Amino acid sequence: MRSFKMAQPRSLAGALAVLGGDDDKVRALAGGTDLLGLIKDRIAAPEMLVNLKGIDGLGEITETARGLEIGALVKLADLAEDARLRVGWPAIHQSLLETATPQLRNVGTLGGNLCQRPRCWYFRNEHYDCKKKGGTRCFAHDGENEYHAVYGNGICCIVHPSNLAGPMIAQEAIIEVAGPEGRREVTAEAFFTSPDEDVLRENQLAPGELVVRVILPPASPKARSVYVETRERQSFDWALCGVSVVLTMADQEIEAARVVFNAVAPVPLRRHDLEGMLEGRRLNEATVDKVCLAAPLGANPLEQNAYKLTLMKAVLRRALNRLKESAR
Ligand SMILES: Cc1cc2nc3c(=O)[nH]c(=O)nc-3n(C[C@H](O)[C@H](O)[C@H](O)COP(=O)(O)OP(=O)(O)OC[C@H]3O[C@@H](n4cnc5c(N)ncnc54)[C@H](O)[C@@H]3O)c2cc1C
Repeated sequence: MRSFKMAQPRSLAGALAVLGGDDDKVRALAGGTDLLGLIKDRIAAPEMLVNLKGIDGLGEITETARGLEIGALVKLADLAEDARLRVGWPAIHQSLLETATPQLRNVGTLGGNLCQRPRCWYFRNEHYDCKKKGGTRCFAHDGENEYHAVYGNGICCIVHPSNLAGPMIAQEAIIEVAGPEGRREVTAEAFFTSPDEDVLRENQLAPGELVVRVILPPASPKARSVYVETRERQSFDWALCGVSVVLTMADQEIEAARVVFNAVAPVPLRRHDLEGMLEGRRLNEATVDKVCLAAPLGANPLEQNAYKLTLMKAVLRRALNRLKESAR
């Protein structure tokens, strides 16, 4: 492991001043559960880490007129225990319970979860100079690709690793970012970027920028939401396929729907077509059958991962059935 210096800023301004603009040389450190692994595996070799944990005000969850505001340094375990989140934003709460292990959730943070790097084994192996590391080849495309993308896998076949990313999009979260140019807000949907935009990154943070807060707008009292995933190891694992569904109901009819799959594409995959099939219908068996059948439409599986198409149908069916049951 290459040695590095550590900066311990006490304020956001202090952190931004040290971060500067070269991500390869200077990196933000939150819980370290992802970044330190990358450094040990020689995938990242920063000269300086900027420890965010001493910064005041980034570790709080507050309810405001805008909704629930969650600091980037809030630990996943603390977020999972927040009763307001559990009641108001169930899909996010349920996805947290499926994330990593209790030990990791006690250390890992919200900002770190959203900004964690992909788990593709070629990316994580120093001997493969893949496109995501600036090389010319995606080794997964024609290699061992059972855990990889079934959509958007032309340039690079990673799936976005964050459990929280999908439900954040489904529940219309807003991500507040701070950088040398000041603060800005971006929807969770726009935050995550595909390899077509820039294969070296997974989100639209510019060098030197930090996630400071996530704002969850108040959920409609008519809305119901759920997150369902499937994975290989039940103890802990990244999802093989997951889905977040938010339905706004008017009596028995679906007024509005949001459906976002995770672990099937390099970014969480919002499915406007399935949302359109749900809207204006009753949530009954016929609707569930029809929408689930259409779940894998447009997929382009690789040699070893066509099973994910079946999983897409299965997780969506479980999610819709849970929402159907909760309506009784
Ligand atoms: C065995 C194991 C199993 C796991 N299983 C799952 C799983 O099932 N689902 C899942 O979603 N995750 C899973 N994870 C990943 C885990 O959730 C992340 O490692 C963790 O959330 C990262 O948070 P951290 O605070 O430790 O981030 P760090 O490791 O400190 O940082 C991660 C990255 O984010 C950047 N970063 C950190 N904070 C900020 C910020 N505020 N603004 C901008 N950039 C920032 C860092 O520079 C770094 O590049 C697993 C991890 C392990 C080791």
